[in-house]
Amino acid sequence: TEKHKVAILGSGNWGSTVAKIVGSNVKTKTESFDPEVRVWVYEELVDGRKLTEIINSDHENVKYLPGKKLPENVVAVPDPIEAVAGADILVFVLPHQFVRGLCAKLRGNVREGAFAVSLIKGVEFDENGIVLISDVISKELGVECSVLMGANIANEIADEQFSEATIGYKNAAHAKLLQIIFQKPYFRIAGAPDIPGVEICGALKNVVALGAGFCDGLGYGNNTKAAVIRFGLLEMVRFAKKFFKNVQYTTFLQSSGVADLITTCYGGRNRKCAEAFARAGGRKSFEELEVELLNGQKLQGTLTAKEVHEVLQRQKLMKEFPFFEVIYDIVYEGRPVEQFLQELSEKELSL
Ligand code: NAD
Ligand code: 13P
Repeated sequence: TEKHKVAILGSGNWGSTVAKIVGSNVKTKTESFDPEVRVWVYEELVDGRKLTEIINSDHENVKYLPGKKLPENVVAVPDPIEAVAGADILVFVLPHQFVRGLCAKLRGNVREGAFAVSLIKGVEFDENGIVLISDVISKELGVECSVLMGANIANEIADEQFSEATIGYKNAAHAKLLQIIFQKPYFRIAGAPDIPGVEICGALKNVVALGAGFCDGLGYGNNTKAAVIRFGLLEMVRFAKKFFKNVQYTTFLQSSGVADLITTCYGGRNRKCAEAFARAGGRKSFEELEVELLNGQKLQGTLTAKEVHEVLQRQKLMKEFPFFEVIYDIVYEGRPVEQFLQELSEKELSL
């Protein structure tokens, strides 16, 4: 049978870490996999040199994952069509706001029989409610799409510290192949047959992390932050159940659920920028802070807060989600961050 060939779409902090893992795995399994892994890199100049050329000659993404060598079988290409040529396993790992643009370029250029996996933490919405990014990829390209999410702060995994992740799948054969290309002794992969549950957790925890960052910026202690994480988890469950009836409660106990929520609320970029936002007391926007603090890396939580708000507003559900709504108001409507917890303590709702 023909060998599998993997392509990676995206090369930021997580994309580059994943290229390191997948590149290393396929090269030891050449009986089943083509050793070359092409990575689509959104081209930019770094100190006057093209990023693709830097990656291909120095085997390091000096901008998004500095200090970590990438395997030499990982090849950076600036053209997405060239990146997916011949590939039957497509790994999507780019900020969610760029997915549609990329899919439009790829349409009609994906190999027959290919399938995808999304590592992207975000959502979209339309007139009927929430739209999963895995469904966008699936519909735009006519491929099945699994998801891989978890407590996965990229730099720690690039350091090969132990972490876990969850593959949300419908197609068990795809999940098995994905486990082979992603699993490492330091990166343990479990499966959950619940794509919406895994994906919604991955998207919404970024909104909760903004709340955790506000706590840190306002100088609140551990108990307060734990309460905020709990409010957030409660609304994550309520939201997932509201829009996807078959979401399983056990999914929240996977790495993609509570573990990702915790790590992001303590160590993520959304938390970091939200802390700085609260410290600046409204004098700096998230756009400014993203540029100032993240060196080209992107926040997903602020956009997701907006997307969630749009859906809640359209469906007249705002009152059921006071935590998500107060975060939206602070980020987008100029509500003072000091008011963050004002009403939440009174607004406990049962599931
Ligand atoms: P990143 O935030 O580190 O980097 C941003 C990327 O976007 C860069 O590769 C940049 O080249 C690219 N980019 C900028 N403008 C673009 C454009 N107009 N079109 C297309 N691409 C453009 O990226 P990341 O950390 O790899 O994040 C990708 C996804 O992975 C996100 O959904 C994120 O939530 C998720 N994720 C990240 C981590 C992490 O720790 N970094 C962990 C798990 C999941
Ligand atoms: P941030 O985007 O907030 O850094 O979160 C990273 C992440 O998804 C960890 O699993």
